[in-house]
Amino acid sequence: MNRDAILEAVDVVKHFGTGDGWLSKTPVVQAVDGVSLSIRRGETFAIVGESGCGKSTLARLLMRLLTPTSGTVSFDGREISATKGEALKTLRGEMQFIFQDPFSSLNPRMTVGKLVGEPLEVHAPELGKENRRAKVAQLLRQVGLRAEHADRYPHEFSGGQRQRIGIARALASEPKLIIGDEPVSALDVSVQAQVINLLGDLSRDLGLTLVIIAHDLGVIRHMSDRVAVMYLGRIVEIGDTEDVYTAPRHPYTQALLASIPSMSGPQVDHEAIVLGEMPSPTAPPPGCRFHTRCPFAQERCKTEVPVLSDTHSGTHQVACHFWDSITAEAPPVNTERSSAAVEARFALYRAATEGGTVTHKTNQPTERT
Ligand code: SF4
Repeated sequence: MNRDAILEAVDVVKHFGTGDGWLSKTPVVQAVDGVSLSIRRGETFAIVGESGCGKSTLARLLMRLLTPTSGTVSFDGREISATKGEALKTLRGEMQFIFQDPFSSLNPRMTVGKLVGEPLEVHAPELGKENRRAKVAQLLRQVGLRAEHADRYPHEFSGGQRQRIGIARALASEPKLIIGDEPVSALDVSVQAQVINLLGDLSRDLGLTLVIIAHDLGVIRHMSDRVAVMYLGRIVEIGDTEDVYTAPRHPYTQALLASIPSMSGPQVDHEAIVLGEMPSPTAPPPGCRFHTRCPFAQERCKTEVPVLSDTHSGTHQVACHFWDSITAEAPPVNTERSSAAVEARFALYRAATEGGTVTHKTNQPTERT
């Protein structure tokens, strides 16, 4: 395992269903198919792609919430793919998950104090009742809530506040790494940036490693250090976020970025750029899995699987046989944005990254939102 890496996946495969036997009428779903990646200690790493690309399954494999069909996952120097029992309980404290839907991820019958205190009962049983209550109050303040909120129930809070409760609960066991599965996509545009800022602040202040799963490339640009783009169970491009955004090498990444609405030009239809639907993960195309939708596909693409290879930048890899010639042909990616909602969101991002509040990527004075 790389010394800088806190989490490493090597050739991880997850197939659901066996596809054989008289009971099994459903075909095998190739959700994740040969993913290798290395996440560095303290960085914010984003995994993006359309729904059905396998990113949420990959997140659950990295968390040891699922067992891989093959391949290995290592966390903090130890292999965890088959971890069980006490070792798994310890691991659960070190890696935490933030769910997409703050409305359904919190038990409505438990007070906020009980919800946030529950992980402390499991991972820090030596704390007495009073110390636990004090710790819960501290965690609530850390996420921008008040100590007295501990006595209330989740339904008394807004969506953004509930996600803050979820984050406080995730922080309770003092994890080294947090994985957020679309942590802001269920929230109003106006509160998305606040929660993004909070995650960035916590990552910086606590030295946390963050893995963010997202389908919206706009969301992750300002919060992630590196990004991996997934398509049909495989990583097609990976690199430093600014490098991937300013010089995308894979046609799929180029299409995803071009589909971010433009502030100055007309709205771009994503489907018009990436032709047709994503094929089913039960029958992925041979060769390059993107060849059925790729405007640059050639005969070789139908049979030969492209592997991730270094681009000229050295911090950026792409899985495409023809990335070098395509880059010259592809139209420039317009990463400006339009539409009232999108414009409002980006105004918030700009406020977050250029002044006022901060993200972990800038070292400015903190002001809680
Ligand atoms: Fe397109 Fe071929 Fe590159 Fe795949 S390998 S992205 S089909 S050009």
